[in-house]
Amino acid sequence: MEKTKTAISLFEITHRFAEQLVLSGITAFLEKDQITAILGKSGSGKSTLLHIINGLVQPDHGSIRIFEQPIDYRKMDSLRLQIGYVVQQVGLFPHMNVQQNISLLGKIRHQSTEAIHARVTQLLKMVQLPLPYLNKYPHELSGGEQQRVGICRAMFLNPPILLMDEPFGSLDYETKRHIYKNLLTIQKTEPRTIIIVTHDWDEAITLSDRFLWIEGAKIKDRGNKTDLEKLKKAIFS
Ligand code: ADP
Ligand code: MG
Repeated sequence: MEKTKTAISLFEITHRFAEQLVLSGITAFLEKDQITAILGKSGSGKSTLLHIINGLVQPDHGSIRIFEQPIDYRKMDSLRLQIGYVVQQVGLFPHMNVQQNISLLGKIRHQSTEAIHARVTQLLKMVQLPLPYLNKYPHELSGGEQQRVGICRAMFLNPPILLMDEPFGSLDYETKRHIYKNLLTIQKTEPRTIIIVTHDWDEAITLSDRFLWIEGAKIKDRGNKTDLEKLKKAIFS
């Protein structure tokens, strides 16, 4: 059996905003090609933790390693290419249509029109958007549709790490179920390390292999899917 490898190491991460202690002594080793859910109430520091993994926030204390390499804050470009990031506030370019938004990085990389089209089509299918949407502009999309385009953009270059910050927040239950299924399917053909922030325990149980539960700036619990199911039962029933 292949030895499990660590994709992201967090060691004794502590961070404050002004006087507020947001994360305190967070140590975790996130496994390569696994889906890890980060659970916690609103304001518990989940997005901050993603920003720290992404190099957007430099923690007051502690260290982060991405594939065994410490983050080099002077060389963020190489980190950016390794990490796809789906933000809560989507941030699509308003003057570009869906096709252009999704494939921007492919264009910069001089990918062929055929390669770009094939990847865009595959991703759009994954998030359950019809092909004619490629010609729409962000203002012509609902919030949930914009979020889904954001997911396609983050995955376009097949990054080994994907950080998702409440990516399905504004989607209806049925659409979510379809996307969960498609995401798990694509995870089999192009496995990557996915960290998904959510406050939805059922979403975490459906999608993730592992979980971290943050409360009071610390990791309150962690474990695998079975542990999470047990924990959910214990808390909510
Ligand atoms: P979550 O994603 O779990 O809802 P966040 O990580 O966004 O939580 O925020 C954790 C806490 O840190 C919140 O109380 C928030 O107000 C505070 N916070 C987040 N970002 C900043 C910032 N840039 N400046 C000051 N406080 C911040
Ligand atoms: Mg957040």
